[in-house]
Amino acid sequence: MFNLSYALDMKIGGIFGPKKDNDELPQEQIIFELAMNSDFINNVEENESKLQLNYICENLIDSSSLSAENTVCDMLNKSIIAIFGPPTRDSISVVKSICDNKEIPHIQTRYDLNQHISSCGINLYPHPSTLSKAYADIIKKWEWKNFVIIYEDNESLVRISDLLKPENNGDAGVRITQLPKTNNFRNLFQEIRKWKETNILLDCSIQKLPEVLKQAQQKGLMIENYNYIITNLDLYTLDLEQYKYSGVNITGFRLISSSKLYTQKIIENYNLTTDKILVEAALMHDAVKLFKKTLQQFQHNPNEFRNDKVNIKFDYEFIDSSIPTYCYDDNSWKSGFSIINAMKATEMFGLTGLIKFDNEGYRTNIELQIIELTENGIEEKGIWNTSKGVRMIPHKQETNQSGTYSRNFMPTFNVIISMTRPYGMLKPSPVKLEGNDQYEGFAVDLIYELSLLGNFKYKLKEQKDGSNGEEKEYPNGTKIWDGMIGALLNYEADIAIADLTISEKRETVVEFSLPFMNLGIAILYITPQKENPSLFSFLFPFSNVVWLLVITAYIGMSLQFYIMARLSPYEWRNPYPCIENPEELENQFTLSNSFWYTIGALMQQGSEIAPISPSTRIAAGFWWFFTLIMVSSYTANLAAFLTVENEVSPFNNAQELAKQDKIVYGAKKSGTTKNFFKESKVPEYQHMYNFMMKNPHVMTDSNEEGVKRVIDGKGNYAFLMESSAIEYEKEQHCELAQIGQLLDNKNYGIAMRKKTQYSSTISNGVLVLQEKGVLSTLTRKWWKEKYSRNCQVDKTNDATTLKLGNVGGVFLVLIAGVGIAFLVMLFELLTNLRNKARDENVPLQEELTREIKFIMKCRSVKPTHKPDEKSLLSNHSETNNSVLCEWK
Ligand code: GLU
Repeated sequence: MFNLSYALDMKIGGIFGPKKDNDELPQEQIIFELAMNSDFINNVEENESKLQLNYICENLIDSSSLSAENTVCDMLNKSIIAIFGPPTRDSISVVKSICDNKEIPHIQTRYDLNQHISSCGINLYPHPSTLSKAYADIIKKWEWKNFVIIYEDNESLVRISDLLKPENNGDAGVRITQLPKTNNFRNLFQEIRKWKETNILLDCSIQKLPEVLKQAQQKGLMIENYNYIITNLDLYTLDLEQYKYSGVNITGFRLISSSKLYTQKIIENYNLTTDKILVEAALMHDAVKLFKKTLQQFQHNPNEFRNDKVNIKFDYEFIDSSIPTYCYDDNSWKSGFSIINAMKATEMFGLTGLIKFDNEGYRTNIELQIIELTENGIEEKGIWNTSKGVRMIPHKQETNQSGTYSRNFMPTFNVIISMTRPYGMLKPSPVKLEGNDQYEGFAVDLIYELSLLGNFKYKLKEQKDGSNGEEKEYPNGTKIWDGMIGALLNYEADIAIADLTISEKRETVVEFSLPFMNLGIAILYITPQKENPSLFSFLFPFSNVVWLLVITAYIGMSLQFYIMARLSPYEWRNPYPCIENPEELENQFTLSNSFWYTIGALMQQGSEIAPISPSTRIAAGFWWFFTLIMVSSYTANLAAFLTVENEVSPFNNAQELAKQDKIVYGAKKSGTTKNFFKESKVPEYQHMYNFMMKNPHVMTDSNEEGVKRVIDGKGNYAFLMESSAIEYEKEQHCELAQIGQLLDNKNYGIAMRKKTQYSSTISNGVLVLQEKGVLSTLTRKWWKEKYSRNCQVDKTNDATTLKLGNVGGVFLVLIAGVGIAFLVMLFELLTNLRNKARDENVPLQEELTREIKFIMKCRSVKPTHKPDEKSLLSNHSETNNSVLCEWK
């Protein structure tokens, strides 16, 4: 018994074909060694695992079974724990039987007629029946009525066996003919010409293929109207330059998925070019990778394989250390089958796409690229896979300058839509609808309009999981796009049309049309609730500053009246008008009267006090003006405050939402909204992203789910959503509202695979629809007219507090008025003092000092010692006094 890491010190063996004349190694061997020597590609556990497998390689001298037997037995002597290869049919069976006997894992990458599940081996080459089905599918797609099958040997006959079944070729007339063993195929082609057959399915080895095609050309069978399906998966490695312009139609298959990102990475890693890698070499790479990955998984997670579908009973603790080293005894290795079974349970991506095995241990989920020879060389034209059959990429050859297809050639595009309201929805109908008819929505109308402009047909299909597309990283480091973007990349659709945001990352893998809608991220939340009326709402018409200034103005004006009245000589009055020369003069503007007078005016009530001197009257006039304006403004605004109930939301923007922790918020799981927060450098948005990641339950699968949560959450849940969708949902649910401004600005576009020829048709169409106003008509239809609940929006404007900016002018007028009044008062005072000084014959200065001293005493009764002063005052109040006396 030994530990697996011990096992990994063991060697594995690779058996390859003979070296070439210039001592060059076969391609499979080069790639085998590269893969063996490289670290675990794309493997996250790479650093943990210091596993490095040793290997030995042997080149068979010839393809005889004896030479293969000797090689395997030699290898067994060196304690190998697995054998890769060999490449030739005759040698395979002997290697296979020795490995089965000794229970040493045998990993094959070659087409094998006799693959069977019970052996201690695994074959990465697609099972013959799978390939056979692919050929049958393409013939059905091409609608070949009659065709000839040219095959090379028994092996090829098995490969095309499906085509011979009547259920697969329908009522097509099939002729089968074998390639002659000699290298002269001209007679055969001569014969086919006589049959007047133009559809040929050719199955032969890659070595023979160039000569076969050459002779077909010599016999005039490589011209227009001739259609070939060539089954050899290495067709693309041939130089077909001479047939490019002949007009012949050559279709083939390729297993290496050169357009996939992970394939490109592997290719870059090894410095290879995809169009030169033979399929068996690519499979050798994947085989080594799979073997290493399996062992590595054993080391890290042996339990993973115990309960698996292939019924594995592997326990690495009890791995058998006694590896058989001799060919001709009964010893066998107890752990070989376990390793093989574990390999069959492992899944990974390699040069040949997804490596996955079915319950019987054969490769499943195979995807073949359909290639065609065009004037530009070999081009990818479609895809075939086990579950969905053939899917072709539409041609463009028939478009005019503006990208419109001619009526004679109307291609059919597979259009993927998502069931996101109102872009794609199921049409309500009492009867079951089929095909395109079952859908409706903005995207459905848009593609319809585009198809009218571009003259193409389309088949709608829905993205079941509602995901628009995100790049997912798998534990083995492979990154794969899911959702609608993934569907485009996997040829499941040609056009994706939905609420698909144009993003930089998506643009690296797909092409977007011109944008058809502009939007941004916002917050969907329940409509803000009405605020309860406040007991102090009478204070709301003015802002605090204005209230403060009014109070200040009131105090200031009262003091101003008090001072001004004291300074102004005309405010000193005879208290007893009947006495001509009173002892004292009185001033009505005592401090309390001043305050009373001003408040009376402010409250629009007045008082008995009436200013006499021009200066105080001027000041009073301006104060009345001030109070008039302020009181009218207050009254008008108070009415608004008493009638309008303001709406309040617990948060008004994303920043406030981020700062609180009572209301939870989320976004769509696999959308660009989530990514916006992920990429953002704004601390609040980063905080929001971290919150969402820490609480995955807040994320939703779809917008619809988000909307439901907001409604059901009754204020406890907010959903980050794109504004266009918010606009729609607001129309549907009157209880919903958008809170705050847009957080960003972006566009929706129609996505297509890169370098597709129909992208200009779509982009031009979008532009035309925009210019004609069709886009806005569709927007109005789906957002405002169809299914809208016409929510009554409360149109009453909110009452707003008057700020200093609104009433500042009145204060300025008041200040100016006070200034004027002071100037007039100064004039009155100085003239009066000057007259007094002249009458008393004292200097003005003395009179002024006396006056100031009196004023400083703050008395409201002024003695009248000076007779002249009395006379002056009596003169002034003459009229009043006389009237009063007479009346008395
Ligand atoms: N429009 C987004 C996208 O294309 C989906 C919705 C969202 O993320 O809010 O991914």
